[in-house]
Amino acid sequence: MHSSDVSVRKIGERGVKPHMPVIDFHCHAGLGDGLTDPADTRADLSTYLRRATAAGIHRTVVFPTLNNEYASAMARVAKIVEAHPKKLIGFAMVSTKSDKGRIRPMLERAINKYGFRGVKVHGHQGMPTRELCDAARDLGIPVLVDVFDRPWQMELCAREYPDVHFVVAHLGSFKDDWRLQQVIVDLMVRYPNVYADTSGVRRLESLEQALRRVGPRRLLFGSDGPWFHPGLEPYKIRLLGLSPKDEALVCGGNALRILRMEHAAGSLQVAARKDSRSRSGQEVVPWPRRHLAPSRETHLPTTPGGRSRIF
Ligand SMILES: [Zn+2]
Repeated sequence: MHSSDVSVRKIGERGVKPHMPVIDFHCHAGLGDGLTDPADTRADLSTYLRRATAAGIHRTVVFPTLNNEYASAMARVAKIVEAHPKKLIGFAMVSTKSDKGRIRPMLERAINKYGFRGVKVHGHQGMPTRELCDAARDLGIPVLVDVFDRPWQMELCAREYPDVHFVVAHLGSFKDDWRLQQVIVDLMVRYPNVYADTSGVRRLESLEQALRRVGPRRLLFGSDGPWFHPGLEPYKIRLLGLSPKDEALVCGGNALRILRMEHAAGSLQVAARKDSRSRSGQEVVPWPRRHLAPSRETHLPTTPGGRSRIF
């Protein structure tokens, strides 16, 4: 079945279940200390939060932007999360190279003191190590990984730690390299503990293949905010033409499950219901269907090159 058939037929007709919370699983927050790229300088959420609310996103996973020193970066993010407890879910972040030998106490502090619920690592600063995976397993938290063009290393992580959920950012390639995304889809087929987020993925065929071969339970909607507009990224999910039930899994249900927040689904749904009504009492569509006219266009435009490689 070709994606165009699905998307043209269903756009504007179906949406996320109105009262299912939508969770953005990939967003950066706070100050960076590197000043070499927007990604290690500043991730200001003020505009993001306004845009996310308008896009119908109810909760957002946030983690420090790239830093050379993560103890203070996590403390800064903890303050941001504290200021928006109903909007944000904090994740830790460490460098498996420069934080080697102290990762466990850093994560314990993040989980127990700040209430964070996962950890992000960026391959630019070191891939997941045994030290990181041991701590994540013992703390019961998922590991979000930007594999930085080395997706095959996730094979070893997934095999050694079958009881840790690994979420691969950008389906394995921020550059949208189909070969690297293919490696991650193959890993998802073989390892039930490998997940992927949709942030920044423009090659919809890769997302469709993951859904076809793996099913809807291991893809998580993510925006890569605040640099990517959280109002744009949901359109990709809509174009996949999922059933409302499967779309709800990708947009929030899977995240609740691996964050061990299913117990909170009821209260989040109540909040979502409240959010879905404007002051005038009119229903606010929690997904961008109102503004997307049916079109013969089958894929979002791709813009090769020109983007920072480091995100
Ligand atoms: Zn990112």
